[in-house]
Amino acid sequence: MTTVQLLCIGDELLDGRVRDANTVHLAGVAALAGVPLVESRVVPDDFQAIRWALSETTAEVVVVSGGLGPTADDITRDAAAAFAGAELVVDEPLLQELKEAFHRRGYPFTENNRRQCAFPAGAQVLPTEVGTAAGFRLHHQGREFYFLPGVPSEFRWFLDHHLLAGPLASQVPTGSTRLVFFGLGESDLETRIGTAAEEARDLGVTLGYRAHRSLIEVSLKGPQEARRSVEATIKGLIGSRLVAEGDQSFSERVAHALLNAGLTVTVAESCTGGLLGARLTDVPGSSGYFHAGYLTYSNQAKIDLLGVSEETLKAHGAVSPEVVSEMARGARQRSGADLALAVSGIAGPGGGTPEKPVGTVDFGFATPAGTYTLRRHFGGRSRGHVRTLSVHTALSLLLFHLEGRLDLPELQFSPSENRSTTS
Ligand code: ATP
Ligand code: MG
Repeated sequence: MTTVQLLCIGDELLDGRVRDANTVHLAGVAALAGVPLVESRVVPDDFQAIRWALSETTAEVVVVSGGLGPTADDITRDAAAAFAGAELVVDEPLLQELKEAFHRRGYPFTENNRRQCAFPAGAQVLPTEVGTAAGFRLHHQGREFYFLPGVPSEFRWFLDHHLLAGPLASQVPTGSTRLVFFGLGESDLETRIGTAAEEARDLGVTLGYRAHRSLIEVSLKGPQEARRSVEATIKGLIGSRLVAEGDQSFSERVAHALLNAGLTVTVAESCTGGLLGARLTDVPGSSGYFHAGYLTYSNQAKIDLLGVSEETLKAHGAVSPEVVSEMARGARQRSGADLALAVSGIAGPGGGTPEKPVGTVDFGFATPAGTYTLRRHFGGRSRGHVRTLSVHTALSLLLFHLEGRLDLPELQFSPSENRSTTS
């Protein structure tokens, strides 16, 4: 079986300046292909260290990231040549191209840029469309060595364009299915999909879970027919909490639902400080459903920009169903959008009270049929976590409404309204 191994080159990865991103990239691509990533090792910008690390590799496919640039500390190519017992040879056509590219952009071409066009004799040059550094492939000791630029976006590009069609092409006859859920704990989820887990075992489908900030990603691996069957069972059990599937993101699914329905949305944010608007506009083409958002942190801003009444604020406080309800209605009316989401909460770490502890967040959702409110307690979590959970909750209210499955038992109509109210 083919295996893959990674060497990440760079002092900056060893002194706390930069967090290694390329292992995650390669691990993801390799896992999908069914090629095990058996080791990832971080190696300093040191000729001998890189050479030794290369000689200690054992996998059929070795990927090396970083150290291909023009500067003196970029010595991966020298170590590669020494390892392969080959001379560095300048690729003249590539050098010519690089010079012209520099000229077109108005950059001076210096002698050290020449180095980027030198490769161990016998190596295959891997051209780039995303930077200046080309990669190269060496066949040595009956194994394949891929030397790629370290910049994570470039590294990713090389994986997609030079390895996916080669050693990282899918080795498995089976594929994978991805389902993402929100609003269930991980253990809750496992209990709820018990029958699906049994079915998966019987059909030879591997189930995996990964939770991040209460988004739970369920992956199914196995033959297509079997996966479809297990997927249908899972959706029957907890489909009401589904927020993304396949290679879709949560934001993309929301965007798709809005565009499908031909509806626009606006947001009135307090404790999320613009994060909700950012998520709604993550997707290209978002101006098709999003015109404007309100970032109303102070009480005065809630009064001035959204028309929240001073009395309501005094009587109930800024974090209350009454206030988010008025925020949502005000945002909807003033922006002219079809739908409006409002969020007000106590993200912490300070500001909590016995009645409203840190993590208390109120959501308002104004629709043509009335305004809903929802209170959630995200206690015991960091400020960042409370804010992310708030964004996910607001997005799920919107998504579930658009997809006709907004029947969460916790959901209440705001006290001042009933279902038939139109505003
Ligand atoms: P360049 O042509 O830009 O010099 P390179 O192939 O020489 O590319 P490096 O100089 O090693 O790559 O790294 C370029 C940038 O990418 C640096 O900012 C470096 O910190 C970053 N980088 C390198 N390896 C990794 C990694 N494994 N994870 C995250 N960032 C990385
Ligand atoms: Mg480097």
